[in-house]
Order: sequence, then C-alpha cells, then structure tokens
Amino acid sequence: MTALLPTSIVGSLPKPAWLAEPEKLWSPWKLEGEVLAEGKHDALGLAADDQALAGLDIVSDGEQTRQHFVTTFIEHLDGVDFENRETVRIRDRYDASVPTVVGPVSRRRPVFVDDAKALRARTDRPIKWALPGPMTMIDTLADRHYGSREELAWEFAAILNQEARELEAAGVDIIQFDEPAFNVFFDDVREWGVAALERAAEGLRSETVVHICYGYGIKANNDWKATLGDEWRQYEESFPLLQQSTIDTVSLECHHSHVPVELIGLLRGKKVMVGAIDVASDVVETPEEVAATLRSVLPYVDADKLLPSTNCGMAPLAREVARGKMAALSAGAAIVRAELAG
Ligand SMILES: [Zn+2]
Repeated sequence: MTALLPTSIVGSLPKPAWLAEPEKLWSPWKLEGEVLAEGKHDALGLAADDQALAGLDIVSDGEQTRQHFVTTFIEHLDGVDFENRETVRIRDRYDASVPTVVGPVSRRRPVFVDDAKALRARTDRPIKWALPGPMTMIDTLADRHYGSREELAWEFAAILNQEARELEAAGVDIIQFDEPAFNVFFDDVREWGVAALERAAEGLRSETVVHICYGYGIKANNDWKATLGDEWRQYEESFPLLQQSTIDTVSLECHHSHVPVELIGLLRGKKVMVGAIDVASDVVETPEEVAATLRSVLPYVDADKLLPSTNCGMAPLAREVARGKMAALSAGAAIVRAELAG
C-alpha cells in the first residue's frame, strides 16, 4: 500500500435480505445447508464489490459469513457447547444468549480460511480480515470450565494465532483483532489483555490492527454512551499500552464521538485507523464532513500513518445507507489526500 490515506471499513456490512433479516444483530439465516453456504459466499462477493465500487482501498468480507463477529468464531471451537446457550451480561451493558465453554478449547479446523480465499479471489486490492480479540471473546461467552478469564484468554490467543497464520497464508494482507472490551475492563487490559493480544498476533508478517470502539449503534450501547459524560477518556487507559505493543495499527472511534481528539497523540508512532463515519446514525456523512474529521486528527497522527475508516461495523444499518457512507468515506479521504499533495 503506497497511496496516502488508504480507506477501509472496520468490519461488518449489512447482509442481503435474502440471506438474513436486515438491520439486526444475531439475525437468523434465511437459508439452510448447501444453499446457505452458497448464499454466504455470494453475499461476501457482493460486499467486496460494493467496497470496490465505493472506491475503498482495502477490502474486507463485510462479515457476510458470520452471524456475529464473536460468537461465530467461538462456535467453531471444540470445548464449546453452542446449543446450551446461557444468557450473560456483555461488557457490563446488555444481556445476550451466548455459547458455553464446557471443556478445554481447541480449534479442530480453520474457521474462516475458505472465506478468506473466496475474498482473495474476488479482488486485487489488499484485503483485511477481522477476528475477535481474546478479551472480547471471553466477554461474549459463559465459562463453565476454566474459571479464570486470564487463563481462557491465553488459550484463545493461541487459537487465534493459528487461525491468523492460516489467513495470512491464504493471502490476507491485514489481520484485525476486535477488542471493544479494552474500553471497559481497564485492569485486565493492563494485567494481561495487551499481552494476550500480542500472543494472538505473534509471528505474523501481515499488518496487524486492534479495533477498539464504543460498540455497534444499538440501543444498549447508545444508552451506555449517554452515561459517559461530555468527554470519553477510556482510550487514555489502553493507548499508552498499545503504543508500546507489537501491534502495528490502532482502529478507533472518532466522528460524532466524545473522545477528545488529542488522545490520538498517545499512539504517536503507530498507524491509526480513524473512524470518520458514524455507524449509530442513518444520516450519510458528506465528503466534507469526513474530510473535516480527518483534518482534525492530523496534528496527532502523521499523514503517512493515517487510515480513514468507520467508527465500527455497519451490520445494523440499511444497505443503501452503508453504501452511501462508504462512498462518503472514499470521497472525503480524496479531498484530504489532494490537500496533502498540494
Ligand atoms: Zn467496533
């Protein structure tokens, strides 16, 4: 990637209505068996094409083959009972029905490698693949075996590393770990969270990203954000640790967020994926709004380390809204790119 300000989405995109009920998380599949498998790959191809049409530089799978960014990965592991689901409180915020860990966890076979090969075959652009981070995984399940968040996180980190190495071998250029839990459990982040994340990324030659956000634009998250006050300083806890870490890039929430923009300076030296698209609103940003957000962070991140992106995944949005937001991201980045070149 040589172009300045390479653009990408954080991860998920809305699914076609024929595949799953739109504008909903954990939406059940509408197809079954082989037809479902074919439908997921068709949707993945469409998601890749939509990103290319919008002019994005880095292409993702839009998470079209996953019901959810965390549970789908967990459900493919041994030691997990996904039929006997339990209701747990996720990130101290909302209840969800999740799989249960009932024995030693292991990965019997690759989870997303075939999907990654399909994406690789669909586009010549660099591709990025998102995996859940270890801490966010343990926060999205019920544990009836390990009895230690840290111990389970290390197990997951080793499993994630196996998967990430195979994704890299399948042609994935950028591996992203989603760790929204880093904005909530600060003691764990300090004590073992960053170390477990580094373990997940160990030995990778591809670029590595950690995505930390305030969540999808769903009611439970929006209600939580309303309690955080005028200044959101959660990143102040994790950024200095990540600045010292082996992870190449940090993906963060910025546009329409109450995060003080100077906190980005805590990452100086790292690449930064800046969220210039609000995923909690149906209003499509103008290119000029995107450009304004990107300009606002330039005092805190070197231009050659700035990657314009979205605040979080766009799964809960309408497809047309998501397409509009991707086009705005692309056009807004082009404005700032031209300014920097001039
Ligand atoms: Zn997110």
